Amino acid sequence: MAHLHDSVRTLYGVGTALEERLERLGIRTLHDLIWYFPRQYEDRSDIITIAEVKPDAKVTISARVAQIRSRRAFRRRRMHIVEALLSDDSGSIAAVWFNQPYIAKQLRVGDQLLFSGIAKSGKHGFALQNPVYERSQPGKETTHTGRIVPNYALTEGITQKQLRALVKQALTSALGEVEDPFPDEMLRRYDVEPLASALQELHFPASGASFSMARKRLEFQELYFVQLQAQRIRQALHAHRSPEIPFHEAAIKQFVQQLPFTLTTAQRKAAWTILKDMQNGVPMNRLLSGDVGSGKTVVAAIAMLNVVRNGLQAVLMVPTEILAQQHAASLEQLFAGNAVTLALLTSRTRKQTNVQTADVIVGTHAVIQDAVVFPRLGLVVVDEQHRFGVQQRQQLKKQTRGGDMLPHLLSMTATPIPRTLALTMYGDLDLSVIDELPKGRLTIKTNLVPPEKRADAYDFIRTRVNAGEQCFVICPLIEPSDVSGAKSVTTEYDRLRTEVFPDLRIAMVHGKMKSDEKEQIMQRMKQKKIDVLVSTSVIEVGVDIPHATIMMIEGAERFGLAQLHQFRGRVGRSDMQSYCLLFTGSSADQTLRRLRALTKIHNGFQLAELDMKQRGTGEIYGTLQSGFSQSLITFQNPQLIGNAQAAAKDTLAYGWLDSHPQLQRAFSEFTQNIHFE
Ligand code: ADP
Ligand code: MG
Repeated sequence: MAHLHDSVRTLYGVGTALEERLERLGIRTLHDLIWYFPRQYEDRSDIITIAEVKPDAKVTISARVAQIRSRRAFRRRRMHIVEALLSDDSGSIAAVWFNQPYIAKQLRVGDQLLFSGIAKSGKHGFALQNPVYERSQPGKETTHTGRIVPNYALTEGITQKQLRALVKQALTSALGEVEDPFPDEMLRRYDVEPLASALQELHFPASGASFSMARKRLEFQELYFVQLQAQRIRQALHAHRSPEIPFHEAAIKQFVQQLPFTLTTAQRKAAWTILKDMQNGVPMNRLLSGDVGSGKTVVAAIAMLNVVRNGLQAVLMVPTEILAQQHAASLEQLFAGNAVTLALLTSRTRKQTNVQTADVIVGTHAVIQDAVVFPRLGLVVVDEQHRFGVQQRQQLKKQTRGGDMLPHLLSMTATPIPRTLALTMYGDLDLSVIDELPKGRLTIKTNLVPPEKRADAYDFIRTRVNAGEQCFVICPLIEPSDVSGAKSVTTEYDRLRTEVFPDLRIAMVHGKMKSDEKEQIMQRMKQKKIDVLVSTSVIEVGVDIPHATIMMIEGAERFGLAQLHQFRGRVGRSDMQSYCLLFTGSSADQTLRRLRALTKIHNGFQLAELDMKQRGTGEIYGTLQSGFSQSLITFQNPQLIGNAQAAAKDTLAYGWLDSHPQLQRAFSEFTQNIHFE
């Protein structure tokens, strides 16, 4: 008997080769198999008679093998064909399998089996093409046909049949060990079913209705933990105080008036809400979400200026040195004539003395260390950094002299987070959205380039580069992988450098490089010492490369729309016309349609909503929120969100975490995998 956390090697039929392939899917243990949810399902539960079989429809029949033979094709001798004649009381039908000679040995004349497949008229007459088959024995459930069948995401060398059988084995031997974090009382109160049966049903649903119940249970669980986490943070924050920062109207009005542009309505609203939020002594915990170029910096500047005019300091934290320099430069411009002193603090600068006197400190993580002391910190603004939590905030409090107050927090992100999603992901976290771009921006001309136009695209890039502009090329992978056929940075870099653009300055950057190295390359790109930069998705959202006007994306189908939109935002940072060229190896209608949306829609929020509908949230927000990797949440059920919120409130009110250790355990596990704020 195998256990939940045993290796997949303990399963029947798993050797080193299969173990390695499973590992590629992130599956190492039986537990992993059980939590590897199907991508989609096929309903093969309707068993019809042979007489009812219609051409080109997916059908399932229960039939007897009347004849079977195996041969090579006449013309293409390398093709192997197995042919069978299947019959039931209503008639008979042919079946053919190509290049699976072993089937002739598996099937015997007289065998009674279930067959699922599509019947087509072809060179071999009217026949079921490559049908899946399975013996149905009384009292034993089928796995591959005659039921609703799960289909999983696969990798080279693993078939649906194999994976289904493995999941089934894992369920049979280890499902009993799965611990339900929810006490019975909770199951009853919120009308959700036990975890074990939900998992079983999610893989092998007995009916559409039981599948919905299963899904509801897992969706509820995710939503509940999210809400619980959010409410715990809120509770914790309410135990602290932050400085009361009144609205310094005169200073802010003057600042806004002398800006070289008029604020958009969305910017005004966001700024106003933030200022109000800092007025009482409750720590602000606000997320500001807005497309690249929507003007988040000036909104943050307004908040910082208000803090400064109240005699306090503000810190702006960014992930990299280069962004710190960039932000320091743009704040310097924005604050010109406003009597605000600025300091830059990164691991390289270390001018800590400035920190004592500066009003606004722009820095990297180097800001968070005991050696840095702030005389009077009032606000922390965090730009594009997802790992800034309660701990870091408490640490900053420690660094504030005489500090018994938590600084207010404003996080900014260019990831467009639609409100429905934000509610679900962050509970009732405070969110401000800038959902409009300043007027007069050129839209980035976006094209889905057919494969035969690739050479033209390269010619176009060369023309632009000769005119003094720069280009990004994004590839989905770092190393070549024969499995997927997707383009990798390293091979694409070599090819562009030697074959396509031997006369241009090409460089590459990817996630496995040291951060110093990455920064140097970005710096050189900024200084126009590189013409074409080949990269994975690592290059930061915020870096301004004013002369970059072309964003070329390989294997575009591998990215979500919201992510593609973010890549696109790396060009178009000046008044020059910019372009985004999408390439895909896929010819599937659905993929092409999805990508074409980018050529028409230029609003990140709209694209994110579209993405959510089409692909679920996990793939899109996976980078942001690893906890949603299974993408079960569909947002189709607002009542469920309400229930999850109520359950989270009840949990804290009644102290269920203390009285139910299994709930506490599951919650800790969840919080380790997921990061808020
Ligand atoms: P992001 O939201 O991506 O951080 P930024 O704050 O860097 O965007 O702003 C992008 C550019 O737009 C900057 O050059 C900024 O000065 C300019 N900008 C911001 N707000 C406006 C506005 N209301 N009208 C015109 N330009 C603006
Ligand atoms: Mg920015």
